[in-house]
Amino acid sequence: MTVIDVNSASNISGNDVSETSLNTNLEAASEIARQLRLRNIGGIVVIDFIDMKSDEDRQKVIGSLTSEFKRDKARTMIMGFTRLGLLEMTRKRSTAAIGSKLYSSCPICKGTGRIESPRAVYQRLLKDLTRGFQDETISGAAVQVYQNMSGILTPDNQKNLGRTLKREISVGFTWPIPTSYEVKFVKQQEKPKKPRRKTKKESK
Ligand SMILES: [Zn+2]
Repeated sequence: MTVIDVNSASNISGNDVSETSLNTNLEAASEIARQLRLRNIGGIVVIDFIDMKSDEDRQKVIGSLTSEFKRDKARTMIMGFTRLGLLEMTRKRSTAAIGSKLYSSCPICKGTGRIESPRAVYQRLLKDLTRGFQDETISGAAVQVYQNMSGILTPDNQKNLGRTLKREISVGFTWPIPTSYEVKFVKQQEKPKKPRRKTKKESK
């Protein structure tokens, strides 16, 4: 159950208290309808409006809510005011909310349905490789990319890339994410320098 309390504090300065109460409640009604829709709140909703003396004013508030809910895709039912002056209503959550429990938005496209093209991913990869190869001690790179990069990183293109960047580059297509890749830079194998012994010839 959702309980919403309409606060009177901000709007009490008017001369005609009953008119002020009604206006505040009407404003609140449209805002509440909007929030229920936005947050997709379902179930029983109880709204504690500011006390209204006249039945006519209460009917106006109900009328305002009813017309606001016409824009709501969810089924809403207004039960009316209880004796304590609480407005009771129900709202049946739309299927979107049920769906959002089973699905979350896609982390790769972030819900946009669009992702970086293979060409754009390749351009980034190229920059990263070039930057990494500025280090002279790096002799090559093992790259893992998403399978849709195979059109760009054909065996021929891989060879050309290695030639252009003057490094050994191996490419695998097992990376699971289409908008990123993995690069493992390979350091030149440093041969441990053995202390050279002087040969007989040299010692002479
Ligand atoms: Zn997506």
